[in-house]
Amino acid sequence: MSPRAGLQSLALALLLTSPQGFPAERVRIAEATSFIMSAKADLNASHDLVLYAHTFLGTHWRTDVIIQAVTEAALLIAPCGVHVKRLELRTIEAPRAFHFYSTQQSRELLRVLEVPKPAFFFVEDTYNRPAFDAEAIGLANSKGRPELANTVWVAYGARDLSQALAHELVHVLSDSGAHSNEPGNLMRDETALANSSLSGTQCERIRAQGVANGLLAPR
Ligand SMILES: [Zn+2]
Repeated sequence: MSPRAGLQSLALALLLTSPQGFPAERVRIAEATSFIMSAKADLNASHDLVLYAHTFLGTHWRTDVIIQAVTEAALLIAPCGVHVKRLELRTIEAPRAFHFYSTQQSRELLRVLEVPKPAFFFVEDTYNRPAFDAEAIGLANSKGRPELANTVWVAYGARDLSQALAHELVHVLSDSGAHSNEPGNLMRDETALANSSLSGTQCERIRAQGVANGLLAPR
C-alpha cells in the first residue's frame, strides 16, 4: 500500500467513527413498538402527547414495568388536559458504556442516534454527581448540552417510578426546573406517592411551553 492510499484509509476510518471512538454503526434502534394508551382519560383533554421510551438491550429494565409506570404517569398529568395518546417503546443496541447516564456519554449517544422527543431513557445507573434517580433536561437548561434537550434519564431501581416519570415529564414539558412547596404537589422536590397534584398555574405552563417547544399538539 502506498503512503497516500494509507492516508485515505485513515480518513475513511475517522469518518466512520464518532469523536470519542465509538463506531456509529454499533448504535442502532433494534426494535420499536407502539402502544395506544387508554382512551378513558381522553374526554376532557385539550392536548395530545406522544412519548418515546428507550431501553438498552442486555440491561435490567423490563418493558412491562415501564409500560405500567408510563400509564400511571399519564394519569397524573391528565388533569392538565394532556392526553398521552401513544407510547413508543424503542430498544437501543449500543456498547455498554451507553447503558449509563453521564452528560458526556449520553450526549455522545444522541449525536450518533437521533431520537424523537420528549424521550425517556431507562438506564442502568447514573455517573453524574449528585446522582439522581431521575434527571430531566429541558430546552432552557440544555444550552451547553443541546443533544440532551427534552430528555429524561431514569436509573434502574428509581423509587416511586410513576411519580418520578410524571415529575420529570412536567419539568420537560413546562421547560422549568421549578419545584413546589404545596402539600401533595407532584413537583415537590422529594418524589413520593402522596405527591400527585398539579396546580392550575402549573398546568397552564405545561400546555403553553409544551406547545411552544413542539412537544404537545393542541386539539
Ligand atoms: Zn424536580
